[in-house]
Amino acid sequence: MNFTHSEEIHKEALKHIVGGVNSPSRSYKAVGGGSPVTMERAKGAYLYDVDGNRYIDYLAAYGPIITGHAHPHITEAIKKAAETGVLYGTPTPHEVKFAKMIKEAIPSLDKVRFVNSGTEAVMTTIRVARAYTGRDKILKFAGCYHGHSDLVLVAAGSGPSQLGMPDSAGVPVSIAQEVITVPYNDIESFIEAMDKWGNEIAAVLTEPIVGNFGIVEPLPGYLEKVKEITHEKGALLIFDEVITAFRFMYGGAQNLLGVTPDLTALGKIIGGGLPIGAYGGRNDIMEKVAPLGPAYQAGTMAGNPASMLSGIACLEVLQEPGIYERLDKLGAMLEEGILKAAEKYNAPITTNRLKGALTVYFTEEKVINYEQAEATDGELFATFFKKMLHQGINLAPSKYEAWFITTAHSEEDILQTIRAVENAFK
Ligand code: PLP
Repeated sequence: MNFTHSEEIHKEALKHIVGGVNSPSRSYKAVGGGSPVTMERAKGAYLYDVDGNRYIDYLAAYGPIITGHAHPHITEAIKKAAETGVLYGTPTPHEVKFAKMIKEAIPSLDKVRFVNSGTEAVMTTIRVARAYTGRDKILKFAGCYHGHSDLVLVAAGSGPSQLGMPDSAGVPVSIAQEVITVPYNDIESFIEAMDKWGNEIAAVLTEPIVGNFGIVEPLPGYLEKVKEITHEKGALLIFDEVITAFRFMYGGAQNLLGVTPDLTALGKIIGGGLPIGAYGGRNDIMEKVAPLGPAYQAGTMAGNPASMLSGIACLEVLQEPGIYERLDKLGAMLEEGILKAAEKYNAPITTNRLKGALTVYFTEEKVINYEQAEATDGELFATFFKKMLHQGINLAPSKYEAWFITTAHSEEDILQTIRAVENAFK
């Protein structure tokens, strides 16, 4: 494959955009460096780069593109938004319709508020939880990414539990010290931390199913116990469903698991590819938000008609019968093909999969927490990533990310991907 134009554009980008990318995860730093491929257009399951190469896409823009790129129904909605004005700074009927749709899909939401990103959504749930409880500390789980606001950019601790240290320059140590980090899927560490700090904790923040060190499901009974202890200590439970909502079923992972939080943060899929975030929860908690209550949160772009119409259209597509069954079927086919190829060529991998989301870890151990994900072989992953890319398969350039199948992928796409995996393992 020829990447000449991509490389030229990246060289130019380096002169004008810091690091040549608008989000660090897009660089190839985690896979040994090089120019990230510059994409020009996308349709269905495919991305096309500036050199005319085609890729079967499993990045799905880090998750939002579950219906495939440029889905006709969503494209129509975005066209309509462009023609009727993209921003009014006033209430619109679209945001009311969309809020109702989201509430119907995720019953723990009595009220919602739209924002512009997952980062904002999570950041605000924390503020609201603090306003509601009058407490400052939060507890999060090692390796879970919740956006880039100060509070959640805290190092993943591998000890049983620890007070946080900032993960990023510019985050005050004083802020990070309001964050307690414990390993995921380890109820003993959680209990220990809650015994020590529980009465100071405003909220326990978690992804109900982890998407940020690969797809990792909670062990049976784990989330139920987390919820019980959180409430015993007078803290709120926040689910960050930015990745998980509408990923595995029409609704949240909370519907699937039967464990409901007090507050939920949403993003990614619900925008149909346009910028969005949302948060919501119980009435008595959401009443703390301005203009009803003292917790301030606002946004010039919040609830903009383009994101609302795109999001409504995306959920309409996801309401079609059989969508999630199909994602599951294709996911199973891909996982089986990868495992068979691994067996044939003795590739030291293991997979975690739920429906159309899959992670291939370069380890033979079953991964249930961040420490294990971190210990997987990054160099082997980097080699695998490049071999896949050079065969026209676009994966996330990080060993921690999931592969996302979209409703646009065909069985032939999956078979072609399995052949590429076989070649890579060989
Ligand atoms: N929460 C989770 C679970 C995420 O995966 C992400 C982004 O990857 C975020 C929050 C932040 O969302 P955004 O990138 O839209 O700010």
